[in-house]
Amino acid sequence: MFALINFSYLTAAVFFILGIKGMTKPATAVRGNQLAAVGMLIAVVAALMHQQIISYATIIAGMILGGSIGVWLARRTAMTEMPELIASLNGIGGAASVTVALSTWLQASGAGTTGNAGWTAAILASVIIGSVTLTGSIIAVLKLRGTIGETGKPRLWQILTLVTLLAVIGGGFMFVSGVSVSPVTLFALVGLCLILGIGLVQPVGGADMPVVVALLNAYSGLAGAATGFVLENQGLIITGSLVGASGLILTAIMCKAMNRSLPTVLFGGAFKQPASAQGVAEDDFYAGKVKYATPDDLALLLDSARKVVMVPGYGLAVAQAQHAVKELASQLEARGAQVRYAIHPVAGRMPGHMNVLLAEAEIPYDQLKDMDSMNPELPQADVVIVLGANDVVNPAASEEPSSPIYGMPILNVHKAKTVVVVKRSLSPGFAGIPNSLFIRDNSLMIKGDAKDVL
Ligand code: NDP
Repeated sequence: MFALINFSYLTAAVFFILGIKGMTKPATAVRGNQLAAVGMLIAVVAALMHQQIISYATIIAGMILGGSIGVWLARRTAMTEMPELIASLNGIGGAASVTVALSTWLQASGAGTTGNAGWTAAILASVIIGSVTLTGSIIAVLKLRGTIGETGKPRLWQILTLVTLLAVIGGGFMFVSGVSVSPVTLFALVGLCLILGIGLVQPVGGADMPVVVALLNAYSGLAGAATGFVLENQGLIITGSLVGASGLILTAIMCKAMNRSLPTVLFGGAFKQPASAQGVAEDDFYAGKVKYATPDDLALLLDSARKVVMVPGYGLAVAQAQHAVKELASQLEARGAQVRYAIHPVAGRMPGHMNVLLAEAEIPYDQLKDMDSMNPELPQADVVIVLGANDVVNPAASEEPSSPIYGMPILNVHKAKTVVVVKRSLSPGFAGIPNSLFIRDNSLMIKGDAKDVL
């Protein structure tokens, strides 16, 4: 039976890997998701076959309760709130790891059967990473929602974090080495790690929060893997490691796309306002320099355009304009124009946000182009329509060394023949900085909701 269970876990792992591979391309993403779900089903069945499991009645009650909460959460979450949902799920994963590890140790300690140093180290890892993930994720959700803002005193938090970290290292050493192996030490460590999670995430700027969410996702996987060692459950070890590794890779990709290093994200404090934005009101920056147009003007422009590029951004998701953009594109194609969609890796609020949104409107995958393949083609574009995108098309990223987004790769839409920016006002994007694209000679702005304008 044991061999069969482990073989099932291995099979599940193969499905997970094939699933993740499938999710790397839009065309195979749905199949990838289905493969991963089959893998999860195999893993769940294998876990149920495991001995020493609690009663099936308790398991079914848990599945109904947890499943109902999951369905309720997923249905009420808007696409734009996805980072908050992911952060919440990371926190729940961390909480699960810490509670399972705690109860397993308390049970073993009560029975006088605590394992060797390796097992104790796994308990410790699960407790530490799980607790940090739990409170770190809560702070991330609150920051993403805007419930708590910047503290303005990142140094104080960093000192608190350092002191707590040293205490955790000391306490952890005492616990593993056997100097102080008691429930009091373990609970004290949990308390310290809960504080550590707050201290690590609180000073991070709101603009960097999605990167932190990806990192917390990796932590929740690592906590799960450690819990797998505690329970000697191969399925959990493999799954946790996969989540840990893919979360770390995603974190690295996001840092690269935003031109931020991980240490700067974690310890650098919030985005600093650039000199050009400090004390310069939006009205002064743009004063009289923005050329406004109407949807009718855009229609005239498009009438003679052969190559049209749509650049979706966060605002497209807010406006839910994915179907409207497809409708316009179909009309243009019917008149012989070529339409492409230029997707920046961090457009929107999570990686792949725009791909998911456009897929919802069944826009053909081969029309979605990534930044590297689109940038060389942009100078030949007759009209580029920027739909609720801002930071990812801000020329300051390549032209203004003092800009906080300087160095971030952007879509070079300012090199097209004509750029039409569709947004509701002159207010800034996520990074909170003005955009010189709006005052370029070849740039027009249509004020309004993206869906209405389209
Ligand atoms: P931005 O956040 O820079 O800008 C979005 C724009 O959409 C705003 O300027 C807003 O202007 C406009 N907008 C909002 N609602 C509407 C509407 N209904 N109709 C039309 N326009 C609307 O978006 P980008 O996609 O360009 O950039 C993403 C940002 O998020 C980057 O800074 C990126 O670094 C950051 N980020 C992204 C992550 C990811 O993984 N995707 C992760 C971490 C951060 P107005 O209010 O005037 O309409």
